[in-house]
Amino acid sequence: MNNNLTPTSDWRDIESKNTLLIRHDIDFSVDFAHKLALYESELGIRSTYFFMLTSNMYNLISSENQRLVKSIIKLGHKVSIHFDPTAHDTIEDFEHEKILFENIFNVDVDIVSIHRPGPFLDNNNVSLNGIPQTYSDKYFKRMKYLSDSGGRDVLPLISDYLCGDRSQGLHLLIHPIWWTSKGSSPTETLNFWRKHNSDFLTAEVRLNCKTYED
Ligand SMILES: [Zn+2]
Repeated sequence: MNNNLTPTSDWRDIESKNTLLIRHDIDFSVDFAHKLALYESELGIRSTYFFMLTSNMYNLISSENQRLVKSIIKLGHKVSIHFDPTAHDTIEDFEHEKILFENIFNVDVDIVSIHRPGPFLDNNNVSLNGIPQTYSDKYFKRMKYLSDSGGRDVLPLISDYLCGDRSQGLHLLIHPIWWTSKGSSPTETLNFWRKHNSDFLTAEVRLNCKTYED
């Protein structure tokens, strides 16, 4: 009997215990997301990238980031919204983000990931204007959920899962920052990203203001 995990980016049909949903929440860098998307594509893996429209770290609709997200779509991955409820007065404002995201990237949003869910986990089956989200029981309890949040070493947890009874499929949350940035600790890794980001901004300043001297 074939019991290999099968990666999928289709969040509607996850009943098989061999289902592998690889989810990427993009909290810091669209560029790092793109690097991981290229690597996964070489491995023949399709995953789902969730991006923020309200991030203080990146502008999703900058020309550079639009180009990168569209390239991720072309590689065959799914893209959707990483929604921060604290950026809005009411949760119904999700609809504004959905319309913007769907129009810019020409995709249908049918699954959402919530950024720093906190209080949401008390009522984890809530949907966002009818759109399911990744912390509902279907993905959070009826599948095995593993995450590298905060830079946690998730590899031993994956090994334990693979060696276990495998009675559930796997919902794996991977943040590209921990895999594409270099550092021996989460802080060092984040500082590497800050330097990378600062170099990009310096290049943009040069491009946009010819009197800039550095
Ligand atoms: Zn997040």
